[in-house]
Amino acid sequence: MRPSFQSSLTLAAFIAVLSGQAIAQEVNVYSSRHYDSDAAIYEKFTEETGITVNRIEAKADELIARLEAEGDNSPADVLLTVDVGRIARAEEAGVLQPVTSDVIAERVPAHLRHPGNLWFGLSQRARIIFYAKDRVENPPQTYEDLAKPEWQGKVCIRSSSNIYNQSLLASLIATHGEEGAKDWAASIVDNMARPPQGGDTDQLRGLVSGECDVVVANHYYFLRAFDKDVKGLTDGVENVGWVWPNQDDRGVHVNLATAAMTKASPNSEEAIQLLEFLTSDYAQQIFANNNNEYPAVTGATGDEDTERLGEYKPDTTTNTAAFSENAKAAQAIFNQVGWD
Ligand code: FE
Repeated sequence: MRPSFQSSLTLAAFIAVLSGQAIAQEVNVYSSRHYDSDAAIYEKFTEETGITVNRIEAKADELIARLEAEGDNSPADVLLTVDVGRIARAEEAGVLQPVTSDVIAERVPAHLRHPGNLWFGLSQRARIIFYAKDRVENPPQTYEDLAKPEWQGKVCIRSSSNIYNQSLLASLIATHGEEGAKDWAASIVDNMARPPQGGDTDQLRGLVSGECDVVVANHYYFLRAFDKDVKGLTDGVENVGWVWPNQDDRGVHVNLATAAMTKASPNSEEAIQLLEFLTSDYAQQIFANNNNEYPAVTGATGDEDTERLGEYKPDTTTNTAAFSENAKAAQAIFNQVGWD
């Protein structure tokens, strides 16, 4: 354990010592989550433990660059990201350290944790198949079905630079090997209704506009259309059907919002307390609710809106760490098959 008393002294704390005051306990969070409701989690944590939570919010890649630049002098204790691909970049940059915690090990299922305890999942986001009900009678039931010739010119999916697609292809590499995944990606390119454009919401809009018959998108972009008026989607959302893919085999591909402890953490004990708190029912519910996601902790109550989508079987055979292990191979395949 590297944090020494010396290195953990901030100037304010040093002055506090000089003036005989107790040192306030704190934990510093670098977060790429931008949800107001997260504040409630930190307030509750402070109420229960007396530990103050300081938050810095920015894009994940900026936070990782900052952690690298700060090195051993980084004030950060905890890093939060909204997908496994990004936390893998932090892992690669060497800015994380493993956390040994019985609480986390007990609460978060093994397939949603890094095998070396470098990070764990907070909430789950499923990448599923949507279709236009009025034009599609027998929608694809698996990711593999999407590659069949019958969907030629009918599939909309966003660009390969998108981390959700990179993780999806990485999971297909884990299942089918690189050759199989490459064949799949090449067939998807053949089946595209248009060159990849826009985000997941734009794929769903394509179902409403008639440009696409079948699309791949994260589940919460669809649910959002019921919460608020999403232009080009909410008005036509009744015609959008969904399929939980691969329910008869490995289950649906899920990505994760994740949490980790930073390598240079000056307040590592407080960091572990916070990380454990993030697996509490209270925190899990807020994480799930604020973006219509599914809790990572089994048995934690999820978001009511997600009930609209019904029960599903997640892919628990592929450890989510495989998404990062196969990230480079996935990018190479995308380039080879000409998936923009
Ligand atoms: Fe998203």
